[in-house]
Amino acid sequence: MLRRRAHLGCAQSSCDYTYKIVAATKTPSSKRSVRKRPAVGQTYLAAPSGSSWIERRDRSIRILQVPALAKLPWLVHGFSTRPGGVSHRDGEKVLNLGFAEWDSRENVLQNRRRFQSALDASDFELISLKQIHSDVIHLLDAAPTAPCQGDASATNRPGLLLGVQTADCVPILLVDPKKHAIAAVHAGWRGTLQRIVAKAIGKMQMQFKTKPADLLAAIGPAIGGCCYEVGTEVAIQFQSQFADAPEWFDEFRTGDEPNPIQWLDMMPPGHQPPPKNVLLDLRKANRAQLLLAGLRTANIFFSDLCTACRGDLLFSYRKEGATSGRLMSVIGIR
Ligand SMILES: [Zn+2]
Repeated sequence: MLRRRAHLGCAQSSCDYTYKIVAATKTPSSKRSVRKRPAVGQTYLAAPSGSSWIERRDRSIRILQVPALAKLPWLVHGFSTRPGGVSHRDGEKVLNLGFAEWDSRENVLQNRRRFQSALDASDFELISLKQIHSDVIHLLDAAPTAPCQGDASATNRPGLLLGVQTADCVPILLVDPKKHAIAAVHAGWRGTLQRIVAKAIGKMQMQFKTKPADLLAAIGPAIGGCCYEVGTEVAIQFQSQFADAPEWFDEFRTGDEPNPIQWLDMMPPGHQPPPKNVLLDLRKANRAQLLLAGLRTANIFFSDLCTACRGDLLFSYRKEGATSGRLMSVIGIR
């Protein structure tokens, strides 16, 4: 039986920012370094695995950013993390940015104000859709006047802070530096299967005349291929849609023996039964969709932080269940 455990979710004074390195990387196949001489007040250090993301700190709040996006003066963007905020989880103060039964509405609103302030985006209107694991994309000229269901939004208007909430699913921010257009995408396994990020790019092409080769994409922290267990039925659905799907899945390994996923190509009677569950690397799947859509490898920035492995820094629905907080990834035009 299919295991559907993909999660359902997914201001203050002047800031004293510091920047430091975090264990996250640009897409591994890219060789181009994005490191530049740091501006005053910033520090870029060498990441263990190559080029770096940067961390923006405001008091106890820590926000992850991509240097190539951070250097665009007309753009604001960031991926929130767990520490800081006014919400309480097991004795620690956390930055929960999603409404939840375990947290008060006032706390979440205060956390959102702090998050926006830390990004110097307090005057932006935050747009947070009611996410439904769909391929519904909203093109926005202004903030919606009523609650809006969907899993991606795009705009070329200033003042709107497009947000996606996650706690394992993949947040993807898209920027067209030439047309000054942006999008924020929420991709769980259902959204990935429905190619939501490719469809968002299609909408940008139609609406803003975006050329995919111009686009910058930031794939934020999400549950990794190390931890994201799904039923083989999910893998079979992916295989029916994507030729390179086997590259995104892995079997559980026992001991040191590699255990290749032969079952995807081999199901005749008499063979060993397929494994009950497999591991899915959702970020890899979305990166493949970005490349297929026409993005340049060097323009795709990829965090390797796993929400389930890094409970100190992130929230994971798989790890924490219904009492998990929510991360938020945002992008806006100044
Ligand atoms: Zn992990």
